[in-house]
Amino acid sequence: MSDTQSSSDVDTNTDSSTSQTWRDDFSRVLSPVFGAPQLDIVRGQGTKVWDAAGKEYLDLLAGIAVNALGHCHPAWVKAITTQAGTLGHISNFFTSPPQIALAEKLHEVLDLPSGSAVFFSNSGTEANEAAFKMARRAGGGERPIIIAIEGAFHGRTMGSLALTAKATYREPFAPGVPGVVHIPYGDVEALAAAVNDTTAAVFIEPIQGEVGVRTHPAGYLTAARELTRDAGALLVLDEVQSGVARTGSWFAHQDPNIGEGIVPDIITSAKGLGGGMPIGATITVGDANTKLLEAGQHGTTFGGNPISCAAGLAVLETIENENLLAHTRETGEWLKAQLQGIDGVVNVTGTGLLLGIELSPGHDAKAIAARALEAGFIVNPVTADRLRLAPPLIITQEELTPFLTALPGLIAG
Ligand code: PLP
Repeated sequence: MSDTQSSSDVDTNTDSSTSQTWRDDFSRVLSPVFGAPQLDIVRGQGTKVWDAAGKEYLDLLAGIAVNALGHCHPAWVKAITTQAGTLGHISNFFTSPPQIALAEKLHEVLDLPSGSAVFFSNSGTEANEAAFKMARRAGGGERPIIIAIEGAFHGRTMGSLALTAKATYREPFAPGVPGVVHIPYGDVEALAAAVNDTTAAVFIEPIQGEVGVRTHPAGYLTAARELTRDAGALLVLDEVQSGVARTGSWFAHQDPNIGEGIVPDIITSAKGLGGGMPIGATITVGDANTKLLEAGQHGTTFGGNPISCAAGLAVLETIENENLLAHTRETGEWLKAQLQGIDGVVNVTGTGLLLGIELSPGHDAKAIAARALEAGFIVNPVTADRLRLAPPLIITQEELTPFLTALPGLIAG
């Protein structure tokens, strides 16, 4: 690319034979863990991406709730390129202005009490891995048990994997990390029976994304807060997917309808925080910090990387400047109402722009997602009978309308 050429000028006029070659190359040189790629995506702009053959897609998944500002938002591109031209990486022996500015911004949007602290890493699983280690430290030998919920997804590194509920993700790696107990979803009595003076922490996603976008029954988070506080255990909220304005609040637990006004001990964030640059954050609230990790007990080379932090700051500032909290709430409510009237849709779950479309019996989410892709819409068949939508927060009703028009036909098949 020349100095004056922008990313959107990159030649994307590749044909389908090039695309086939790329897929062959993929299976020759890359790990098979993600299965065969469905598309070769070569360019993105706003809410759209283009494949190698030049076909346009409306991106209703945003890299799984990552591209909060859409693709190549000018503020995000400017922040990254400016920072890359200023200071790209330093070790954690030092600090840099973007790291401090992003941490300060997180303190501000979360309205954190003094003593609270941010630990930066590179992904959601690492954010939870740090929280896991904090829970182990807080519990000491006396409190060996960490509780997670059925349906939970907390990541794939060994500690986070232990918290993830799906047995097929965990079992190939047995014996795994000991001490994690999964309790039934939405069951306050089961929670009350499980939390006691052997509990180091309870990990909860305010909205369970990977199980099909599921919120907890009313009163559940309040009960979790009271039970953990009474037992002297930590309450960790995993906001990796639900945070960073995804639900129309900065973090989902700040929405009174979801979080019921509770204040957790630890919040984990990633995905939308970098808007497409890798970053994770483990945020300890108030004096939770004092009993957790000490100097030298945890670390990562790239955590707090100036470019990722500059990207994160651009994401949070743009959400503010473009009024995206209100926009996400309003667009999400409108979208939910539109979806609810569609034949074959039994229920629409979630809040803001994190929605689950529950299909009536006999419908196969995977087949519908494949037809949608063919028609130029990226959606996610998150379970056998649910589609997940997590579009860029900048998406408009006008951009969503063609999808809503096509959806009945895509469902009918
Ligand atoms: N926690 C939640 C709630 C998630 O949704 C995810 C990813 O989907 C993770 C943790 C893991 O994040 P990452 O894939 O960045 O490691």
